[in-house]
Amino acid sequence: RSDSEHAFLEIVKEPFDFRPHAERTVQVLKELADKKDIHLHFNSPASVVGTGDADKLTQLLYILLDNAIKYTPNGGHVSLSLRVEPYKQHQLLVISVKDTGIGIAKEDIGRIFDRFYRADKARTRQHGGHGLGLSIAKWIVDAHRGTIDVQSEVGKGTEFIVKIPF
Ligand code: ATP
Repeated sequence: RSDSEHAFLEIVKEPFDFRPHAERTVQVLKELADKKDIHLHFNSPASVVGTGDADKLTQLLYILLDNAIKYTPNGGHVSLSLRVEPYKQHQLLVISVKDTGIGIAKEDIGRIFDRFYRADKARTRQHGGHGLGLSIAKWIVDAHRGTIDVQSEVGKGTEFIVKIPF
């Protein structure tokens, strides 16, 4: 994709602490998790200070956590972990969102970041999404020059790992 396609996505980088944003996002989604008896875990240092677009990174977190809750059966677990690692002269924000959900088949993994793609239509239709969340998440990561990786096993769960120069 060309950069002009991302032009609507203006990134405004400022120094900030990601932890309170993440805490609020977990708080907002707790209601959804509670309805499904899903345990939400939050692991983070006392502060996660760096430079990035606070609103966009919070939106990214919301998309990943919302999906993790949507695609995890009742009684499961969703864990958010934040950490900051040294990276060259700078640092890297590492976000992990891990669930004990339905997982993603190998043949779908390459396409879940495409716009409007939804794995196994029949199974996911009940969740009423549009298949846009992860494409937006990918744009936010790309705009920060970061990476997003997925590890998944069908029937066991999924982990999304985001690394952002911070
Ligand atoms: P929405 O636009 O409302 O987010 P969506 O959840 O269908 O709808 P995406 O967030 O783009 O769209 O996700 C694309 C597809 O990837 C989903 O339809 C689902 O099949 C799969 N997926 C995403 N996250 C997970 C997850 N944590 N576990 C299992 N499958 C997932």
